Amino acid sequence: MTVDELICYGKKYLHKDQVYLLLSELLDINILNLYNHLDDIIAPENINKYKKQVQLLSMGKPIQYVLGKINFYGFNFQINENVLIPRFETEGLVEETNKLIKKYFKKDNLKVADLGTGSGVIGITLKKLHPNFEVDLIDISKDALNVATKNAKILNVDVNILENDFLTSIDKTYDVIISNPPYIKENEQIEDIVKNNEPHLALYAGVDGLDCYIKILKDIKKNLNKKYLIALEIGMTQKEQIIKLINKYLDSCQIITKKDLSLKDRYVFITNCE
Ligand code: GLN
Repeated sequence: MTVDELICYGKKYLHKDQVYLLLSELLDINILNLYNHLDDIIAPENINKYKKQVQLLSMGKPIQYVLGKINFYGFNFQINENVLIPRFETEGLVEETNKLIKKYFKKDNLKVADLGTGSGVIGITLKKLHPNFEVDLIDISKDALNVATKNAKILNVDVNILENDFLTSIDKTYDVIISNPPYIKENEQIEDIVKNNEPHLALYAGVDGLDCYIKILKDIKKNLNKKYLIALEIGMTQKEQIIKLINKYLDSCQIITKKDLSLKDRYVFITNCE
């Protein structure tokens, strides 16, 4: 079959933009350049792969899982159904955290823990930005850690991979602890495409969506270096409840909250550096 024929095939099931995107990825050709390749003959294994992808997309699978990859902070990560699809908001978490790291810490060999690392996007990106950091990627899911391990390898970074439930029973101390934990309430309405495809372990956190923050903050004192920064992504309605939790579990710290690009409360930073 030719590219032209594959376009016609795809359009029977999908919007044309999705068709062009699949083909440009499959053939590694810029979308605008596809029209110069309409008569190219495509290898049978690529035709099979494409038809499978068309089928999965038409059944409602997210494009990120169908392609198996995503760009995060300018780096290419692999993902699959065992990890959450990284969001723009989480790029914001990394960006804001990075600003505070530069503001508060003079040394460049910080010890960093990324809790509930999933695909590893947060911790691996920080390691890419600061090669001297010692970064621990921690997750309770073996399947997620397989993805994170692959990403560390592809992006050529040396990080520690630990299978653990946040920091429970870990004694090591850190300068920076960062997390985008599950924070959706048990009965919260979320989009079907999310609910039907992404791992519930990575999405849901009890009746009020706070279970993971409690788990993280409860004994976090034991894991903090003298100067520390904790960076958390939060649900847009959770700010006040999380501030309460912080005041319950940590004393004499400064709490900074920030909004995401849609102006929703999304990030909470806890520090004693000021
Ligand atoms: N830390 C990962 C991310 O931000 C996974 C988050 C999660 O599974 N809740 O993409």
